[in-house]
Amino acid sequence: MCKCALAEALFPGGKTPEELELAYPERGLPEGAAVTRFSPSPTGFLHLGGLFGALTDATLAQNTGGVFYVRVEDTDKKREIADGVRGLLDGLAAYGLLPEEGVVGVGREAGKYGPYTQSKRIEIYHAYAKRLVEQGIAYPCFCTEERLSALRAEQEQTNVNTGYYGTWACCRDLPAQEQLRRLQAGEPYTLRLRSPGVEGRKITVQDQIKGKLELPENIMDVVLLKTNGVPTYHFAHAVDDHLMRTTHVIRGDEWVASLPLHIQLFGVLGFRAPKYCHTPTLMKEENGGKRKISKRKDPEAATSWFWEQGYPPEAVLEYLMTLMNSDFEAWRRAGPDAPLAAFPFRLQRMSVSGALFDVAKLTDVSKNVIARMSAAQSYAGLLGWANTYDPAWAALLTREEAFAAAMLDIDRGGKKPRKDLARWNEAKTAYQYFFDALHDPAFQLPAHIAAADAEAILRAYAPLYDPEDDKDAWFGKIRGICAGLGFCPDVKLFKTDPSAWKGHVGDASGVIRLAVTGRENTPDLCAVMRLLGGERVRQRLQGAMLQMAGKERGA
Ligand code: GLU
Repeated sequence: MCKCALAEALFPGGKTPEELELAYPERGLPEGAAVTRFSPSPTGFLHLGGLFGALTDATLAQNTGGVFYVRVEDTDKKREIADGVRGLLDGLAAYGLLPEEGVVGVGREAGKYGPYTQSKRIEIYHAYAKRLVEQGIAYPCFCTEERLSALRAEQEQTNVNTGYYGTWACCRDLPAQEQLRRLQAGEPYTLRLRSPGVEGRKITVQDQIKGKLELPENIMDVVLLKTNGVPTYHFAHAVDDHLMRTTHVIRGDEWVASLPLHIQLFGVLGFRAPKYCHTPTLMKEENGGKRKISKRKDPEAATSWFWEQGYPPEAVLEYLMTLMNSDFEAWRRAGPDAPLAAFPFRLQRMSVSGALFDVAKLTDVSKNVIARMSAAQSYAGLLGWANTYDPAWAALLTREEAFAAAMLDIDRGGKKPRKDLARWNEAKTAYQYFFDALHDPAFQLPAHIAAADAEAILRAYAPLYDPEDDKDAWFGKIRGICAGLGFCPDVKLFKTDPSAWKGHVGDASGVIRLAVTGRENTPDLCAVMRLLGGERVRQRLQGAMLQMAGKERGA
């Protein structure tokens, strides 16, 4: 029997599901094209798990020629914070993951399947809720919080499963007259599903990541609409992902427990269920064990932390790809310069158990990512970071743009690019010797080199130094001064009888390196010196000689 009078009393007027179906047609994409969505609650910032999900969404859509869109799930006003969408969108944009469809800016939506903000879709949910009421599949429940608590207490006492179901669902079969009377009297109500589930029955679902899952059928008369008429996540998920024609629901595996309910909802609504893809929980190692990354305890749970720490977004994405598909690293080794988008990502190759998030590994990946960047890319990345976190450094980099780009270009490209930076916040210290304003001329000699010998090396080298020398000429000159100073010009020869020498040519160039840069390790010293220029190098050689002479005098 149609519960039309009740449905009309609950939801007067409004569009029909048939009208909505016409307004949200199939997308007409080629076979196999995945439609994915990132659907955060507006909690203000992008979490690592969110980024992991969004990257999976975007990669799958891109790989299959599909569509990725953003939907804002703002039905839980208690969790919402003011301006909570901005942080999320900024987070996505920082990683180049802001799609063209959905919520694309604060107060801005694009695409034909909107609105993409759930609070603007209330009438749509009500249209489907009304149909379920007409069919007797949903009903108003007038139980108060107190009534529900009393029910729970009774269930606990009698040792049965707690919840609103079966014979415990006291508003399920209220007489129509009573329903209408209570509605007219203005009693608050929630709208509940009349679950067709049977206790003890199982359903099987093919999860695209976890494989075949066998789960107990849902028997709970869950709430579909809250007392304020706003849908719960479950109901909104079914209606939205159906109408927006999502093909793959990619979400964290904390949702697996709700899967039977979602499958049931798609069933009673007459929708085809999407493919479900439950991504592994991100874990971290602690005290020899593993635990879930916690939004409260772990700073790295917020994606903004990576940027603060100076990890380039490209590196974070690259690292997340290694967690997404275990064969990613082999693919990367085979093609170090291939764009991420070319990786043949497979949902089925995602880890089923938790994915271990390891900052040390990220750091390693980041070194390689920065090493593979062009000088211009690394300059832009470094400047972008410094603009936010070190404006004085940013000003220096901007003033000396060509010089800074040339500095970053040393030892870049080629088979063995330098890998001296994992994070942009290391650059200022690592390269301070390139800038007089930052350079500290004081240096420590290694224990096996005496100050007098260092001074002698510098004294012999300084008049020979010519900023125009190419690498061979440059090294030839250093080698040339060695023998006369008791340093072996050839490392192999030195190794045959180290006691016969004060050191070797590497030690001599090491002294020059220290004199010019204050560092024991730098990229190609000849290139560094060429970039620093004749005048600056001569000054530093002179300064270092004085420093060594001072040391000899014990100053
Ligand atoms: N709004 C849900 C959350 O923030 C998203 C879950 C989903 O992707 O379906 O947890």
